[in-house]
Amino acid sequence: MLPFKLAYDDRYDLHLGAHVFPSQKYRLVRDGLLRDGIASREDFLAPEPASDEDVLRVHSKEYVYKLKTGTLTYAEILRMEVPYSPELIEACWLAAGGSILAGRRALGDGWSANIGGGFHHAYPDHGEGFCVIHDVAIAIRRLQFEGAIERAMVVDTDVHQGNGTAAIFGGDGTVFTLSIHQESNYPYPKPPSTLDIDLPDGMRDEDYLAILEKHLHQAFHDFSPQLLFYLGGADPYREDQLGGLALTIEGLARRDGLVFDYARRHNVPVAITLAGGYARNVADTVRIHTNTILAAREAAEPSSAAARGK
Ligand SMILES: [Zn+2]
Repeated sequence: MLPFKLAYDDRYDLHLGAHVFPSQKYRLVRDGLLRDGIASREDFLAPEPASDEDVLRVHSKEYVYKLKTGTLTYAEILRMEVPYSPELIEACWLAAGGSILAGRRALGDGWSANIGGGFHHAYPDHGEGFCVIHDVAIAIRRLQFEGAIERAMVVDTDVHQGNGTAAIFGGDGTVFTLSIHQESNYPYPKPPSTLDIDLPDGMRDEDYLAILEKHLHQAFHDFSPQLLFYLGGADPYREDQLGGLALTIEGLARRDGLVFDYARRHNVPVAITLAGGYARNVADTVRIHTNTILAAREAAEPSSAAARGK
């Protein structure tokens, strides 16, 4: 039913209960796509977990060993801000596999999404801010290793700067990293992305979209990627508990459409990951992520979108 495939596994849900990180959102997005007739069951692909070899292209041996053997220190677990469990590790390896799968399918079909992932705060040697391992970096390194791509672009619209992405790809001319985020918010420090767009508190739709467009123009002028990984964070939303921007749900959908329009016009395949989202009402976060899939559908099939009267 969708013109592209979605990577998803029920085990993405960490069942964290009252935690501010609503990991049930992945399942809710999947269920909503099916319920609303946007996607059919055949559109969903179950990812294989990333291999340790894949993970080790990005993360240090020592860190991977600690994750797999449950020997992180208390301080290291606190910094991750999610409770350690074997299920957490399984979920993270699966999410990384989902981003590899989405990247590969995007190269074949033009578009794909992982209904998960976007763990952009994970560094090579530690996890932080709900991010354990960096699924997008693992996917890029895997696809480069296979020779499927040489150059990738990461467009990260999560309200928090992509510090892990910047640290991993800093000084690497094969990966262009763009992060548009609230300046006075976690993380501190913010290692430099190729292009950082630091926004003041409280920015609204029109100003945000104008600034994003200007910098997308610059990014596609400066760099010619063979694959774009999009981190469509839901947390620039004005009702977000961990964000301080003031975008509306409609503005966020226009943001997605703007990025996808640039990719389409430059013939760059797009692999989507969801990244953050902590709205007071989880249904809003789910709506924002679902809209990202709808925006991709529209970009992938502009003529059929017109036929649906949109
Ligand atoms: Zn975030």
